[in-house]
Amino acid sequence: MEKKDLRRLTLPELRDLITDRGLPEYRYRQIARWLYDKGVESLARMTDLSLSLREELGSEFEIRGLTIEEERISRIDGTRKFLFRLSDGEAVESVLMPAERRMTLCLSTQVGCTLDCIFCQTGRMGFRRNLEPHEIVGQILPLWTRIRDLRLRTNLVFMGMGEPLHNLPALVTACRTMMDPLALNLSGNRITVSTAGVLSGIRRLADTGLGVRLALSLNATTEEVRARLMPKAARTPLRELLAAARGYAERYGSRVTIEYVLLRRINDTEEDARRLGRMLRGGPFKINIIPYNPGAGTGLDAPDRERVDTFARRVWPQAPVVTVRWSMGPDISAACGQLHTTRATG
Ligand code: SAH
Repeated sequence: MEKKDLRRLTLPELRDLITDRGLPEYRYRQIARWLYDKGVESLARMTDLSLSLREELGSEFEIRGLTIEEERISRIDGTRKFLFRLSDGEAVESVLMPAERRMTLCLSTQVGCTLDCIFCQTGRMGFRRNLEPHEIVGQILPLWTRIRDLRLRTNLVFMGMGEPLHNLPALVTACRTMMDPLALNLSGNRITVSTAGVLSGIRRLADTGLGVRLALSLNATTEEVRARLMPKAARTPLRELLAAARGYAERYGSRVTIEYVLLRRINDTEEDARRLGRMLRGGPFKINIIPYNPGAGTGLDAPDRERVDTFARRVWPQAPVVTVRWSMGPDISAACGQLHTTRATG
C-alpha cells in the first residue's frame, strides 16, 4: 500500500489523527512543529516521539516535500527564483526577494492561470491545474529555516503564478497552516493576496476572517482598456471591484494595494494618471505602479523611466501612498509577469 503524505493533512486533520488513536494532544503539537516549524523530511528525525509511535505512523505515512529542481540567483539584486517540480510532472516557480531588513517571498497558487491577461507570461501558458494546500505551503518549507535564521521580517505575497482567488479553498487552508503558531506563526498582515479582480472571491476571502492583506491588479482606468488587457478579469466593472476593495479595507482596517502595470502608450497617459488619482482619491488605498516587464510575443512595451516618474507624480497628489515597483530579478525572468513553466517530459 502506498504511504500517505503526512503534510497532505490539514492541521485539524492531523490533530484528529492523533487524538482518535487515543494519544495525548501534545503529540500533535510535537508533530506539527517537526513538520512545519523545523521542516523535517522524515519521521525518524522526530526525535522526541517514542520509537513505537514513529514506527506506528511510519507504517502508514511518510513525508514528502516539494523538490527544488532549479535555483537561480540574480546578479543584479540577489533575487532567487526556485523551480519546484510537482509529483505529477507539472512545475511552479516562487521568488525570494531580499531587501534591507526584510525578505519577501512570492508564491504561486496555480500551475498556469485561469485568466488570460495579455501582458503576463503565466496567463499565456493557459490553465493547467490548481495547487493543493500542501503544494502552496511546500514552496516555503525548504527555505523557511534559512530565512528564519537570518532573523529578517518575512512577508509572503501571493503574486506568483495563478489567480489565488480562483483557488480559494486551498489558499485559505494553506494560509491557516502558515499562520498557525505551531507552524510558521505568521500574522495576517504579513501575507498579501493579489487578485486580478475576482469579485465573489474578494467577498469570500473577507468572510474567512483570515485578515490577510489584499492587493487588486487594476491596471486600467477605463473598461475598454481593461477589457483589452485582461479580457476575463474585465468582466467585472471597475466600479464594483473598487467597492469590494474598499469594503475589504474597511473591514480589516488596512489599506488595499492597487497594482497598476504601466504599459507604454496604452495606460500611461496624463489622462490615465488623473483618472487613476480621481478613482482612488480619499479611499483606503495604496498605489503600486509596476513598469511593464517585457515578455516574448506580447507586442507590448515599457514606458521609459522618466514617463514612469511623471505618471507617478501625477497620481500622487490624490493618494497618500504611491510607490513604483521596479521589479526584481529581471535577468533570471523572476519579475512580475515573467513566471512560466513547462511540464516534465518522460
Ligand atoms: N493573478 C493575480 C496574482 C498575480 S500577481 C493578480 O493578477 O493580481 C502578478 C502581478 O504582476 C499583478 O499585479 C499583475 O498585474 C502584474 N504583472 C503581470 N504581468 C506583468 C508584467 N509583464 N510586467 C509587470 N507586471 C506584471
